[in-house]
Amino acid sequence: MRQKLVVANWKMHGSLAENKQLLSDYLHQLPTLHTAQVVVCVPYPYLAQAQAMLQNSGIAWGAQNLSKDAVGPYTGEVSAAMLKDFGASYVIIGHSERATAYCESDENIATKFMQAQAHGLTPILCVGETLIEREAGVMQMVVAKQLDTIVKLHGASVFANAVVSYEPIWAIGTGLAASAEQAQSMHEFIRGKVAALDASAAASLKILYGGSVNPQNAVQLLAMQDIDGGLIGKCSLNAQEFEKICLAAA
Ligand code: PEP
Repeated sequence: MRQKLVVANWKMHGSLAENKQLLSDYLHQLPTLHTAQVVVCVPYPYLAQAQAMLQNSGIAWGAQNLSKDAVGPYTGEVSAAMLKDFGASYVIIGHSERATAYCESDENIATKFMQAQAHGLTPILCVGETLIEREAGVMQMVVAKQLDTIVKLHGASVFANAVVSYEPIWAIGTGLAASAEQAQSMHEFIRGKVAALDASAAASLKILYGGSVNPQNAVQLLAMQDIDGGLIGKCSLNAQEFEKICLAAA
């Protein structure tokens, strides 16, 4: 049985003072959850703070991006090894807010995925379709292409040590979550696609749902067979709401 995983994506929110409060609230409220793994993905400058406050707590931390390169003259970039220096164990890759704004190609995302794994970080690969693509009925084709780039370059076995997060772009930050059935259907498709190439990687692969998850819809979404947890944006900035989502996962 796959353990549920709930990942907080703080995006570009917070300050040293605000994070101190929020992480203290997390620490106060979440340790009672023995059945769900919790991860907090903070902006780069706050990795040291997350490490100092969360180590030995049972809550893991990570980043929201990394460089596709290991080292070199890449001004402004942050490498996988640097994330490891601050005890990060997860990294979000290919989030649509970045992929769109910074023109990240599927190939770029696949390279970042391998950089993460090569340095012992678990990549959280975001995939998902736009509203136009869903309305045109091509959402599975779109998600398949995003996965195929990684499979073509690196094989399907890499999914044994990875997390995939299905994040329909139309659901992120809009308050309009996918229904539990819509999400389950895509999760089943993703697992089936990996299973066709590597059954054991597919069986252990955690597939999260992300996009306007809140304490109300979390119960139904997280009860679905192929939904192994959530990637939570807005509601992760409120410790009480985040705790309720974690409880729904547990
Ligand atoms: C996200 O950005 O990954 C996300 C799911 O955001 P929200 O929960 O705010 O829709």
